Amino acid sequence: MLKNFDVSMMVWGEKQFRLKNSDEELFLHEMSRSRLLNEIACLLFPDKCVGCDLLCSAPICPRCFFNLVANVNSLGCAPEQDFVIAGKRHVNRALSGVRVRAGGTYRGSLKSLVLGLKNSGMRFALPLCELMVIAAGNDPSFICPDIVTFVPTTKRKMKMRGFNPSEVLSALLCERLDLPLVAALEVRRSVKDQDGLSAQERWENANGAFGLRPGFEKLIPGLRVLIVDDVITTGATIWNCAVPFFEHGAKEVCALIAAASAI
Ligand SMILES: [Zn+2]
Repeated sequence: MLKNFDVSMMVWGEKQFRLKNSDEELFLHEMSRSRLLNEIACLLFPDKCVGCDLLCSAPICPRCFFNLVANVNSLGCAPEQDFVIAGKRHVNRALSGVRVRAGGTYRGSLKSLVLGLKNSGMRFALPLCELMVIAAGNDPSFICPDIVTFVPTTKRKMKMRGFNPSEVLSALLCERLDLPLVAALEVRRSVKDQDGLSAQERWENANGAFGLRPGFEKLIPGLRVLIVDDVITTGATIWNCAVPFFEHGAKEVCALIAAASAI
């Protein structure tokens, strides 16, 4: 499904951030054990932390990553939350029926990671995926859905970037949680870039923009679907991606997002 990337090739900081949920002790042990490896990797593959410019072998240093993890735990893990932007519950009737969890607020180092993924790709995807896994918590709708899919991109953007960031995140998430990934959605008509549009323009722009790819209609009835995207703002894109699943009998549609943004 991923033409340009091999997920198995993605290594981030010797995988020391493979968090077992809520097991900080193990995490810290892993961190100290891999310090030497990390320092060697740092010499061989110097990189800068997106949060504090520290030289390290990963896009984000442990300290800045811990800060993001703390943010996830205070933001996105309450099961009753439908949609959270900048720490406040966002009530949006049009999104009712789609539960959304995000890896944090779209600002600071999390914003830099998302922009890094969009602009230069893969190595930024792993820390984002880990934050999404933490945001998913122990909620079955998020950690063991029947299928995982991603928000499709337009041909123009695909040509420009060579990859779809949402597809990359979903592929990594599926590998991480051993879930089935399907490219079930397609863009049905030309849409503008949502960046720079008002909330109302975003809803108009995304309205009816997505549909199921041929052949998927028969598979959807009764399934619990998880949609992955990189950024959620008004929820217009996610809602319009959820509609075709509901129309074809999906039992449940949830969305797991790297970052939640305000306009
Ligand atoms: Zn840092």
